[in-house]
Amino acid sequence: MTSIKDNLADIRQKITLAAERGGREADRIKLVAVSKRKPAAQIQEAIDAGQMLFGENYVQEAQEKIPLLPESTSWHFIGHLQSNKAKIVAELFDVVETIDSQKLADVLEKHLATHDRKMEGLIQVNIGLEKQKSGVMPEDVEPLLLHANKLEHLRIVGLMAMPPYMSDAEAVRPYFAKMRVLADQLEKKGLLGQQTKTELSMGMSGDFETAIEEGATIVRVGTAIFGTRN
Ligand SMILES: *Cc1c(COP(=O)(O)O)cnc(C)c1O
Repeated sequence: MTSIKDNLADIRQKITLAAERGGREADRIKLVAVSKRKPAAQIQEAIDAGQMLFGENYVQEAQEKIPLLPESTSWHFIGHLQSNKAKIVAELFDVVETIDSQKLADVLEKHLATHDRKMEGLIQVNIGLEKQKSGVMPEDVEPLLLHANKLEHLRIVGLMAMPPYMSDAEAVRPYFAKMRVLADQLEKKGLLGQQTKTELSMGMSGDFETAIEEGATIVRVGTAIFGTRN
């Protein structure tokens, strides 16, 4: 088994090469190390190898692990978030990638305002139009942005997607391309990318290189860094 350090070096190299192929700047691409179901000791190993940005899916697990790790780390919430857990997430995380309703955006805003804290958010898009998956349908992103762009403490900076699972990364490419087109359309309408460059979070262990070629600015990689999860 290769070490977390070697895995990270390998992925950073692949990110650089994929960015070159896509004609993009590699330093514009953020690597979120997805540490769900991995112990704090392994996260510390990644930190020792220079990785400071992590992603977690479960509120309770994050609540236990994040306080054990250096304050200089940043955390993206990438799991399905229920409004009743939004308070904890608003206190603990730096970015919520999975905003999928007006209600969730409003509840996060309320808690952030209470703490006078600012946070960035991404809207999760159900780009594969899959019935059981979370995320808003592509046509519902615009009304959600029209509402959420008025919030003061939660700033929507882009879109996130988890396309249908496929073992062949090439088969996922059209979904990544659709996300890029959707983000471009929303930018043209002045709904995204007004204050900062639009973030596009897409691509995981099996397909992050393809996602980067198609415009990802954030990739979320777990298994390829930490090994398989139990
Ligand atoms: C678990 C997870 C990942 C990481 O998946 P890997 O295949 O282990 O890289 C990325 N994004 C989300 C939303 C996840 O839940």
